Amino acid sequence: MFIPVLLLSQAEKPDLSMIYKIKQEGQRNSAIEDLAFGLTDFTGPRLTSSTGGARGNEWAKKKMEEFGFQNVRIEEARSFSNGGWDNLKTYAAMTAPYYANFACNPVAWTGSTKGLVKGEVVLLDIKSDTDFEKYKGQINGKIVLMPSTTTYEVSFEPYATRYTEEQLEQLSLASQQQGRRAPMGDMGIYAAQMALRNKISEFIKTEGAAVILRSSGTFNVPRSGNARYTAGNPEPVAELNLPLEAHGRMERLMKRNVPVEMEVEILNRFFDSPKIFNVIGEIQGTDKLLKNEVVLLGAHIDSYSGGTGAADNASGCIVMMEALRILKNLDVAPRRTIRVALWGGEEQGLNGSRGYVEKYLVDSKTKEHKTDFDKFAAYFNMDNGTGKYRGIYLQENDMVRPIFEEWMKPFADMGVTTIAIRNTGGTDHQSFDAVGLPGFQFIQDEIEYDRGYHSVMDTWERLIMADLRHNAIVTASFAYNAAMRDAKLPGKPVMKQPANSQQNQRVPMMN
Ligand SMILES: [Zn+2]
Repeated sequence: MFIPVLLLSQAEKPDLSMIYKIKQEGQRNSAIEDLAFGLTDFTGPRLTSSTGGARGNEWAKKKMEEFGFQNVRIEEARSFSNGGWDNLKTYAAMTAPYYANFACNPVAWTGSTKGLVKGEVVLLDIKSDTDFEKYKGQINGKIVLMPSTTTYEVSFEPYATRYTEEQLEQLSLASQQQGRRAPMGDMGIYAAQMALRNKISEFIKTEGAAVILRSSGTFNVPRSGNARYTAGNPEPVAELNLPLEAHGRMERLMKRNVPVEMEVEILNRFFDSPKIFNVIGEIQGTDKLLKNEVVLLGAHIDSYSGGTGAADNASGCIVMMEALRILKNLDVAPRRTIRVALWGGEEQGLNGSRGYVEKYLVDSKTKEHKTDFDKFAAYFNMDNGTGKYRGIYLQENDMVRPIFEEWMKPFADMGVTTIAIRNTGGTDHQSFDAVGLPGFQFIQDEIEYDRGYHSVMDTWERLIMADLRHNAIVTASFAYNAAMRDAKLPGKPVMKQPANSQQNQRVPMMN
């Protein structure tokens, strides 16, 4: 009776001499800084299906080849209805009552202005159906300012924080909401708001506005965003995100009847690009029986169009690449294959990872498992910025807790101590979790997360190299352990879905 239990617990003891080597390689011979430069300053922003996105994919492929990974490839993941989009020029300034230039960021997949547009700004304050009439014939060729949707309040909270012991303790406790969905809110009000928004968009288009300006972003840093667009349709009206300060100044002037004039020029390029791609490389397994089983490491390589997508998610990509580089440089001979996949199109709905699942693991129509499903050992994801790992979310999978507890022990003195039973969402591990495969994301300190994400500020400066080195070391170790243990990581037992389940009905916000 005792023997199998004893064997199991021994099997979870990580190979400490290998952990030592991983720590040494990851600290003394780190490629993190080189990779960080490559995937931020060098490649620039990597919007899905943009020229920068393709540049990022090519860069990652070349780096993987340099590192000596095997089966390196840029692989088609899914079709993409938006098509390609590049921003080529953006300028916005207030010219009356006085001159002030503004930081701004065009909304991806919106159109261009006809050269430089100059003139009075119209505040389009439509709150209900009866408000449309007064703007009829008033906005043709005009610069249109949409009203603010948020107000600014000074925050006394620090932007970057590390988890305290108390917070980690809190995180390790099962929450009462576990397994339940947040209430949906009043769907009637939501539907009415959406209907009005669509009507306003339609009105702006048919009335022929030159450009739409929205408030998005703070600290004079505009946020990025993207429009819903299907390739082949007419280009949407040019649209620009102005940070709250620039937008608010003009809105306040106009509300006090001070005429505001601006000049705006936006040049965007739409082009044929109907596919989303993943960049993949691996170290092949060596065990006769297990070599075709796969331990998968992943992060999304696409970003928004502002900034250089440093924290979101160059950080995850370079950690995963560095983890595999560490193992490669140590000449490990893993029993299973360890593969790294940099996903495309995450921000528009986890496209790269879902495409991978559809291609290799589960038929999207019949839901039947493909041959690789039973060879899938584990997935580890990183997409919470530059902050260092403090533990891991179990994604409700109790079965892996004793395994991860042992795997984390060599990193306790580096602050990796916490196991949280709860789900964490918004990114690519969900694609695997959703089909019953063991997919996980690490707990990370929150470093300038709200400020940097999806804004023009998400650049090289947001990265903490020491944290990324730490993350690569822990990832390499987890990947190695998963590749060496006798069995794959346990997935969650299949349960019958409750009849009224709303699971997977709504696309969540993407990290
Ligand atoms: Zn992300």
